[in-house]
Amino acid sequence: MTAAPLRLRLDSAALVANWRLLDAMSGAAVCGAAVKADGYGLGAKGVTARLREAGCRDFFVSTWAEARSLADLDAAVSVLHGVRAEDMRGERPGNARPVLSTAAQVLRWRETGAPCDVMVDTGMNRLGVSVAEVADGLLDGLNIETLMSHLACADEDVSMNAAQRDAFAGLAGRTSAKRLSLANSAGVALGVDYAFDLTRPGISLYGGVQVPALAAIRQVVTPEAQILQRRRVRAGETIGYNATFTAPADMEVAVINLGYADGYLRAMERLGTARADGQTLPLLGRISMDLIAIGVDAAPGLAEGDWIAMDYALPEIAARAGRSQYEMLTGLGDRFDRIWR
Ligand SMILES: *Cc1c(COP(=O)(O)O)cnc(C)c1O
Repeated sequence: MTAAPLRLRLDSAALVANWRLLDAMSGAAVCGAAVKADGYGLGAKGVTARLREAGCRDFFVSTWAEARSLADLDAAVSVLHGVRAEDMRGERPGNARPVLSTAAQVLRWRETGAPCDVMVDTGMNRLGVSVAEVADGLLDGLNIETLMSHLACADEDVSMNAAQRDAFAGLAGRTSAKRLSLANSAGVALGVDYAFDLTRPGISLYGGVQVPALAAIRQVVTPEAQILQRRRVRAGETIGYNATFTAPADMEVAVINLGYADGYLRAMERLGTARADGQTLPLLGRISMDLIAIGVDAAPGLAEGDWIAMDYALPEIAARAGRSQYEMLTGLGDRFDRIWR
């Protein structure tokens, strides 16, 4: 297969180090991994293979299609969006089980007698059966592997966190569940009294840092693109759509194979930076759908066909773009080759 002119360089050692850090911070609890949205854009197959090797045994996806793509994985896959009537008729891999979140799903699944997980809503009002329904016996007779809930504000220092934790802890022993699970990445950083038996980090595995306690998390993803053309732009000439950039002096410019259609957001105009030969390079003018102009005066050796890396430390670039760290990752498109190092 011909290599694409753009690639995501993915750092295996950083991914594994991030999981090990979150595992250690989870105390006695086991650490799983959220790999929905194709491993937050990195590619779920590549992520799960590396984390399985590191010792991770519990993975979380959103849909059954995502679970089917991980059917060969020797580890449990929990499907967060539960099980619809259509899914009962569809193919469900042997390593996957639903996370039930409504009474209808419970009825649908109970007759299979197969293991499942259950989501309980403790205040987020997203997915989940209510604490009252659990108390009333809705889950009786189910074969529950993991009972879980989800924190609404784990990345903030607010009283809602303890309120959700206490509501969830109150369900211990009320169901057949072998394990309890509450914490996402930021939830792990809240401390071991949020970890219960199993934690479910996602974004911090991939380099996301939302709270100071996770400052040691390492960058995993670096977008890179090939130079399609190198040109000289004369003082006073403009670059790109709408001629928004005027060269203040003669400049060397490289045009690279990357654009907003690849998830490199237009919000990064004037804010993004690139890197080659150890130099920081500016983005010039508009970001096009598939092209970006880079100022390469500082890198005289760069030629057509050479690669330029985009600075992509998630906490910084998300702050610059005014977007969430999640959006900066999950928007990265399928035109990238995904290259693990
Ligand atoms: C996405 C998700 C996670 C992981 O959350 P992060 O904030 O990415 O760590 C954990 N649990 C559930 C239910 C989720 O939907």
